[in-house]
Amino acid sequence: MDKRLGTLIDSYRDEFVAKLQEWIRVPSVKGDPAEGAPFGTEIGRMMKLAMKTAEEMGFSVRAFDGYACDATLGDREDVLGVLGHLDVVPVGDGWERDPFGAEIADGKIYGRGSNDDKGPTLAAMYAMKALKEAGIPLKRSIRLIMGGDEECGWECMRYYSAHAAMPEIGFSPDASFPLINTEKGMLGFELRFPAEKDGLQILQLSTGERTNVIAGESRALLAGGEELAEKVRGYASETGLDYRAEGKAEGVWVTAVGIPGHSAYPEGKRSAIGMMLKLLKALGARGGIAVLADAVGLESDGKSLGCACADAVSGALTNNMGILRLESGAWFATLDFRCPVEADQEQLMEACRAHLPGIEVRVSTRKAPHHVPADSELVSSLLAAYEEESGLKGEAMSTGGGTYAKVLKQGVAFGAVFPGEEELAHLANEYERIDSLMLAMKIYANALVRLAAE
Ligand SMILES: [Zn+2]
Repeated sequence: MDKRLGTLIDSYRDEFVAKLQEWIRVPSVKGDPAEGAPFGTEIGRMMKLAMKTAEEMGFSVRAFDGYACDATLGDREDVLGVLGHLDVVPVGDGWERDPFGAEIADGKIYGRGSNDDKGPTLAAMYAMKALKEAGIPLKRSIRLIMGGDEECGWECMRYYSAHAAMPEIGFSPDASFPLINTEKGMLGFELRFPAEKDGLQILQLSTGERTNVIAGESRALLAGGEELAEKVRGYASETGLDYRAEGKAEGVWVTAVGIPGHSAYPEGKRSAIGMMLKLLKALGARGGIAVLADAVGLESDGKSLGCACADAVSGALTNNMGILRLESGAWFATLDFRCPVEADQEQLMEACRAHLPGIEVRVSTRKAPHHVPADSELVSSLLAAYEEESGLKGEAMSTGGGTYAKVLKQGVAFGAVFPGEEELAHLANEYERIDSLMLAMKIYANALVRLAAE
């Protein structure tokens, strides 16, 4: 990179850390709407602070009624977008430090938002500052767009798109390095079928609240006594899986213990719902439960549903049953498919229906995939910037999750978690290494030069 830029960025370190601490200390969790603050007063306060920071750096700043704001460098018509967000998820349990204290220890800055997404967003803003102070002439303006509702419903980006011209090309520092250029499509199903009068009688079962979570534990109450409990224990030793059974006056409580996770990333996980389906069938359950045990069971690749597929840019399809519950004599379940870019979603729906006889299948979610070719100007420039600054190998990746980047026609996710670093977004004790943020800042500055300098 340009030596002046490197020197400028190094000189920002203390100022950047102090500013990031100020940002983290605003608990910008979504709250009740208030005047000029549609996502609550704290996100409103954060939005004002971000605009003040950008104004102090000399960018032209625009407010979008508390939904979003932007900061622009340059006055070219062609615009490169950088998309970050100022809201954070709720704190949750397990913190050993003040989640909004912005404490610094061992070269790390702790706090909700340090990694997702205040640290990377502010690093991108300082990268713009470096280009500005180095006086680099631009062929494209650079616009940092900051949303206030990424974690909940992306209402911020809908509002922004309705009130401003969304850049066509850009990146979002809201995921991982090297770069994510492919997001699988999403296909969600709701399944309904009646409870079966014959075979094993299931009295209670209600597992899962969210369709995109791989259940870690599933419990059911079954009609039966000690003999049934023995069968469960037998099945546990036969399969080597973690099943427990406890005889009670009301019947036998059985528990399946799996390995929880996110439905888009099933590798190394085990669905407790899948385990429960297999057990129930082995114990004599009939009807829809038996169908699901065979067609879904412990699979996360959609094979027995006739849906398994893969392509070179996105990898394989994944599937998860996140919810299974019995409610007043009827079953309800969900399936969450993450489909390769080239998959035919119509065909997947047909295959799914054909493999689930006797089960009503309704489509609840359908999202097209997003893909920016690896040989595009955008992807090759960003990867070159990453390789040059980090010394690491750059590579375009695919995700089953969703990133902010698909708001842009040609948008990719770019940083700021480095390979091998802990993924702490949404978890307790979220932190970000200051050295990593400084390196990210250099990568962003390098990328902005490649994509926007004359
Ligand atoms: Zn985020």
